[in-house]
Amino acid sequence: MTIGLDTRLREVLGKKTGDKLSEGLGLETVGDLLGHYPFRNATRGESTDLGSLRVGDEVTVAAQVRAATVKKFYPKAGRAGSYGRKPREKPRELLEVIVSDQFGRTLSLTFFSQSWRAKELVAGRWGLFAGKVADFRGRLQLNSPQYQLLAEDAADPSSAIEEFAGALIPVYPATADLPSWNIAKAVKTVLDLVTDLPDPLPRSIRAERHLMGYTTALRQIHRPESHELNGAAKKRLKWQEALVMQAVLVRRKAESAGEAATAYARGGALPDAFDARLPFTLTEGQRQVGDELAGELAGVHPMHRLLQGDVGSGKTLVALRAMLQVVAHGGQAALLAPTEVLAAQHHRSIVDMLGDLAKGGELGAPPEATRVALLTGSATAAQRRTFLDEVKTNTAGIVIGTHALLYDGVDFADLGFVVVDEQHRFGVEQRDALRAKADRTPHTLVMTATPIPRTVAMTVYGDLETSRLTELPAGRIPIATHVVPYTDSRWMTRAWNRVREEVAAGRQAYVVCPRVGGEDAEEKEGDKRPPLAVTDVIEQLQNGALQGLRLALLHGRLDADEKDRVMRAYAAGEIDVLVATTVIEVGVNVPNATAMVVLDAERFGISQLHQLRGRVGRGAHAGLCLLVSEAPEGSSSRERLDAVASTTDGFALAELDLEQRREGDVLGAAQSGMKSHVKLLSLLKDADIIEAARAEAAALIEADPTLAGEPAFAALVDDLAADRGDYLEKG
Ligand code: ADP
Ligand code: MG
Repeated sequence: MTIGLDTRLREVLGKKTGDKLSEGLGLETVGDLLGHYPFRNATRGESTDLGSLRVGDEVTVAAQVRAATVKKFYPKAGRAGSYGRKPREKPRELLEVIVSDQFGRTLSLTFFSQSWRAKELVAGRWGLFAGKVADFRGRLQLNSPQYQLLAEDAADPSSAIEEFAGALIPVYPATADLPSWNIAKAVKTVLDLVTDLPDPLPRSIRAERHLMGYTTALRQIHRPESHELNGAAKKRLKWQEALVMQAVLVRRKAESAGEAATAYARGGALPDAFDARLPFTLTEGQRQVGDELAGELAGVHPMHRLLQGDVGSGKTLVALRAMLQVVAHGGQAALLAPTEVLAAQHHRSIVDMLGDLAKGGELGAPPEATRVALLTGSATAAQRRTFLDEVKTNTAGIVIGTHALLYDGVDFADLGFVVVDEQHRFGVEQRDALRAKADRTPHTLVMTATPIPRTVAMTVYGDLETSRLTELPAGRIPIATHVVPYTDSRWMTRAWNRVREEVAAGRQAYVVCPRVGGEDAEEKEGDKRPPLAVTDVIEQLQNGALQGLRLALLHGRLDADEKDRVMRAYAAGEIDVLVATTVIEVGVNVPNATAMVVLDAERFGISQLHQLRGRVGRGAHAGLCLLVSEAPEGSSSRERLDAVASTTDGFALAELDLEQRREGDVLGAAQSGMKSHVKLLSLLKDADIIEAARAEAAALIEADPTLAGEPAFAALVDDLAADRGDYLEKG
């Protein structure tokens, strides 16, 4: 039987095993199974570090049997009849097996009424044991684990288990029904049938980079002959992942760069009038990036650019100046915001900044003036009609909204420029949905305040050019951040007094909690109290530490009108302290707010805390951020908080954050196709491969845009590109 990557597993392995692989792990074809890589290799004679096990984990450990004892016990009598056991009741047998690693750490395995297993689980035997880690009176335990005993000596054919002939034993992501060794057996059967699979990596790259052939790499990743060969196999497969991914991105970038776009000349009455009335001077970065954007908008190919800039660096202003250039020449610009609060705020601040330049069509407005339209999900029918009309007739040059802008029925007269704010909340598919509303590919600017390391930018935003705003506007006083222990009442009193002092000086404050409260009572995690909730905290503060101040609530469960009303009142200074969830995380801009108290701060991520504190100290006054936490000194949670307190460098914090995040989180939901494609490659650790693959992909596609000369490679590239397409249609 010759088989290829497309052959169904049921045909090769039979229905029973095929069904299990399909149901348990979603593996249907030979290619799926060979792409189900072991997550590590156990070395024969070496055990798993039992110190690393955590209660609740599903594990497969390699360990050595130390002792096995059979105990007899009588099942506990129920409460009602607890006079003792009935005299003729038979005792049950419990087999307890102690296994250990080479550091002497032990794990207990228990089997009920299976004492016959003591015959094979004898001291000295080495094996793989799979089950869920439980805690029994402070000791780690696996109850009735599945196991596979191994020969001490791989060369001893009498006891060697066939699927583990080599010195390295693959350990696979497994299920209870399908332990690691059964997967290994299925893989072996398949590998024995596979002959030479077509190699998707272009020959020239393979030769130049000294990369192993595809079939060999699959054999060495599943059934490694040595650590060296296994390492070479991984490198080769990582290269393949990186090259395919970069080819998709490079091709996408090349395609969009080749598209035609409307050119909007630099300058014009509207942007000139706006610049003339700016109350401050642009930072050097704002000037440079502004110039870059102006040049691209004036070109005949569409802009596809990512603008990175720390919170408060003035991205919105840069985007607005670019929008005005488009509007000045008859185009429309859309600004897509991730939340209603942000959309409403953008609308307010852009209308404010424009002054009478936003009063197009009104009496006394300058001739170059335009209008700024806002659409959110909560618009009334009449508001919606006015909005649709202004958008359709090009009365509104600037159109602001949430994803509501993406719905059918929003019909632009001439959409020339799309600005997406805080991209990490949006998927590529939403960006594309809005772009599809334009007759020609519009210019696109994506703004993000989350600093992204180079390799991540190259991957997640690999189809975009990148600009950075690195400095904050002059005169900003850096925010002072302190960690406050929640359990120290003197510190807490001091913290709330600081809030009162700010309010007394005419400023405003935020109190941030992880949870809304009310019906959303979360599951309790062990014995820990649930995270603090805004609805509870506001009540306590109102009757306690912040009595007499004007407090208001803001969270995601309020309806949009209410949220907008609260934000307006806060911006107008009618509220002293806003008690909020992370709805205020991105972009909320109230320059008079100078203090923030984050409760249960350890519940938030590093970048999230950095974003949150970016809400204060945006004006002329110094900002203060207090991170309140129960995390004990020296704990890793406390260290993260100390890191946030010690620097205001968003890029440094992003790197730190990244180290603690998992690959999947980094890639994000926006790139679901990428996520399933990238199995071995680490965006964090394989920067060198990604960068080299980027260059190779660019060269390949430049020389052969359709990849006609590399059909096997082209097929993988098309597959990944189409994966993203599928996702687009579902979105
Ligand atoms: P970002 O979106 O990058 O977090 P914003 O664009 O919201 O930052 O700008 C933050 C604040 O700084 C706003 O109030 C804005 O008006 C102000 N601002 C922007 N550029 C400058 C500048 N060059 N000088 C002084 N203030 C500025
Ligand atoms: Mg912003």
